[in-house]
Amino acid sequence: MKNYSHIETSFIHGGISTDEHTGAVNVPIYQTSTFAQKNIGGDVKWEYSRTGNPTRAALESLIAELEGGNAGFAFGSGMAALTAVISLFKTGDKILISSNVYGGTYRVLDKIFSNFGITYEITDTTRESVFEKAITPDVKAVIIETPANPLLTVTDLEAIARIAHKHDLVAIADNTFMTPYLQRPLEFGFDIVVHSATKYLGGHSDVVAGLVVTRNPEHSKQIAFIQNATGGVAGPFDSFLMIRGIKTLAVRMDRHAQNAHDIAEYLQLNSDVKTVYYPGLTSFKGHDIHKKQAKNGGAMISFELTENHDIRKFFGSLKLITLAESLGGVESLVCHPASMTHASIPRDLRVKLGITDNLIRLSVGIENASDLISDIKQAIENSRI
Ligand code: PLP
Repeated sequence: MKNYSHIETSFIHGGISTDEHTGAVNVPIYQTSTFAQKNIGGDVKWEYSRTGNPTRAALESLIAELEGGNAGFAFGSGMAALTAVISLFKTGDKILISSNVYGGTYRVLDKIFSNFGITYEITDTTRESVFEKAITPDVKAVIIETPANPLLTVTDLEAIARIAHKHDLVAIADNTFMTPYLQRPLEFGFDIVVHSATKYLGGHSDVVAGLVVTRNPEHSKQIAFIQNATGGVAGPFDSFLMIRGIKTLAVRMDRHAQNAHDIAEYLQLNSDVKTVYYPGLTSFKGHDIHKKQAKNGGAMISFELTENHDIRKFFGSLKLITLAESLGGVESLVCHPASMTHASIPRDLRVKLGITDNLIRLSVGIENASDLISDIKQAIENSRI
C-alpha cells in the first residue's frame, strides 16, 4: 500500500492504479471469466474471475487503502457485501443491530439468516449502557450505521468499538452514508467496514455494488473464502465504474456537503418546516459526537413539514429534484420514508420512531444549491393546505 499523506491523492493514485502489463493509466476492464494457465498444477496468479480478477483486485486494494484496512472485497451489491460479512457467523450466534440500520440489513437477518439459526436483536447503539446491557453470551457481533437512515441518528464509533471488544464482539460499520473521505470507522476500532458502493463511491447512479474492508488478517482470510465460495462478486465493468467514481470522491463530497449545509440552514429557518435532521447543524442532537468522528455533516438531510401541508403535493411539485429510491448520486433525489423505504414498519411504530407521514428524505446532489433551494421552496409553498 502506498498510503499517501492525503486521502484525496489516494482516491486517484491509491491501490493498484495503473496497468502493470501495458502502463495504461487506468486499470483496464479485464472482461474475462478465466485465464490461460501455462501447465497443470502451476502457481498461477489469475485463475477464474470469481476467485480473482485484475480489475476487481485493483478496486479491492484501493478500498482497503482508503479505509485503512488489511484487505478489501468487492461484491455485486451492498446486500451481497453484508451477506458475506454475516456469513462469518454460525448457528446459535446473535448479532446486535442498531435501531436505524438499512431495512435490507434487517430483512436479510430476519428472513434469511434466521433460517440458519443466526439471530439478531435491535438495540439503541446511541446509548452505550443500553447497548452493553443487550450483550448476552451468544452475541458475537454488532452492526451499526452512523449517521443512520432516515433520521441521521449518530452512534459514537469509539465507544461502541470499545464496548464490543470488551465482550469479544466483531464491530461492523456500514459506512455508506459517509464514505472513507468523511469517516473511517476502522480508525475508531471497528473491525469491518461495509459499503453500498451503489451510493457515493460509484457516485453517478449507474452501478449497483458493494464493498467490504477488514482490519484483521483472520477476517480477511475468512471473507476471501466466503467471497469465492458464495460467489456474489462484482464484475469487471462494475469494478471499473467504482474505481472511476472514487477518483472524484473528494470533490464530489465537498460539493455534496456544502450544498446540504446550505439547504439544511435554509430549512431550519423555514416556518413550514417542523424539524430538520442533519448532523452538520450545531443544533442537531448527535452533532458533537458526529463532529468528533467525521469531516462534515455529509449530504443526507431529512425534514418534516408542519401538519398544514399535503405531502403528495410537495412531491408532485418538485421540478428539479427526482422522487426515487437510492442516494449518493450527483443528482438530488428525494424519498418519502413512510411509504417507500420504511413502508414495512407498522404506522404506529413508525410514527413513534419519528418517521411521520410528513417526513421527507433528501439526498443532496451537486447541482447549484440555489436551484435546489428554489425547487424545495416552491414545492413547500404549493403543498400548503
Ligand atoms: N446499506 C445502506 C446504508 C444502504 O442505504 C443500502 C441501500 O440503500 C444498502 C446497504 C444496500 O446496498 P445495495 O442496494 O447496493 O444492495
